[in-house]
Amino acid sequence: MPSIKFINELEKNHITSLYGLEKIIADDDDCEYLFEAANRVRQKFVKQEVHLKALIEISNICAKECFYCGLRSKNKGIKRYKMSAEEIVSRAKEAAMSGYKTVVMQSGESGAFKDDEICEIIREIKKFGVQITLSFGEKSFEQYRAYKKAGADRYLLRIETADRTLYKALHPNMSLKNRIKCLENLRNLGYETGSGLLVGLPGSSAKILARDLMFLKKYDFDMIGIGPFIPATNTPLEHSKAGGIKLALKANALTRLLLPKINIPATTAIETLDPNEGRKMALRSGANVIMPSITQSRYRDLYRLYPNKFCLKQSAAEIYDRFDEMLSVIGDKISLTNGNSVRFNQRRGL
Ligand code: SAH
Ligand code: SF4
Repeated sequence: MPSIKFINELEKNHITSLYGLEKIIADDDDCEYLFEAANRVRQKFVKQEVHLKALIEISNICAKECFYCGLRSKNKGIKRYKMSAEEIVSRAKEAAMSGYKTVVMQSGESGAFKDDEICEIIREIKKFGVQITLSFGEKSFEQYRAYKKAGADRYLLRIETADRTLYKALHPNMSLKNRIKCLENLRNLGYETGSGLLVGLPGSSAKILARDLMFLKKYDFDMIGIGPFIPATNTPLEHSKAGGIKLALKANALTRLLLPKINIPATTAIETLDPNEGRKMALRSGANVIMPSITQSRYRDLYRLYPNKFCLKQSAAEIYDRFDEMLSVIGDKISLTNGNSVRFNQRRGL
């Protein structure tokens, strides 16, 4: 049982060597032991509560060409859309009235929305008393500042991988350096800052993943999402092997052990690989956030980062009730707090 001593060390001290992480990642025998340790750490630091956040996918227009993503600009096989401000605001209102404390707006990276338009939408949504998370990709310091000033609270920007060579191979006309700069800008502007990884990408390895996890630890993010790579149609990686659910759950658990007080979503990509058990397994191995899409179905079906993306075809209120019930069965409950991570509150002296 070679990796158990490293798991024990992580549970106790929230740090181990790069070698220890690599050993855990490469060893499939001690998964249950790892998941149980992560579950204990989750319960100790962030309780049995789950933050339910409403995701609105406001546009699938994207100017970037990330090799893995179905929304990449070179994919001419999907119809592009941009929701109107009224549609977005009314969706957010419905979420707030159904009990969600956070609205997450996500899109491809593009200039489809003018900054003034985004700021106006943020101001309107803030009137409903919810927290706002944005995930629009890389923007300038001034743009991030304008959104913050308008009332945005949080930002999600995954690093995907911190390995320079792999990053470069998968992201034409982008740079790891600028991605890190964006994350630093977000932190400096006072956003609750989230990042994360795409695991099991072609060209990755246990060593690269171990280094990626160390990167997340070093930057001490407030939220981290871990998704397994799923090959998307009409992309250069269409025929590559998918990242496994086990690997994603292990990275999820290791993230909880390394950063005990942060928020970790049970990601949609994990659910997609196992629609029945994926979410529960993620919650039992460190995750404490669920971010269901409440985008209208005519848009939701077009927001196809990868095929068969898991989604519930119900209203925001029905989805809320469904999770309320599901969580009570596994002994968790929906958090009634504003959705901040314990780490962020601590950083802010709250
Ligand atoms: N454009 C923004 C936000 C939308 S993409 C951005 O890139 O930050 C949101 C996330 O979807 C990305 O961070 C990526 O990790 C994930 N994603 C994209 N393609 C994927 C795929 N094929 N399999 C799994 N996750 C994918
Ligand atoms: Fe665009 Fe984001 Fe997909 Fe990259 S991951 S192609 S930036 S939507």
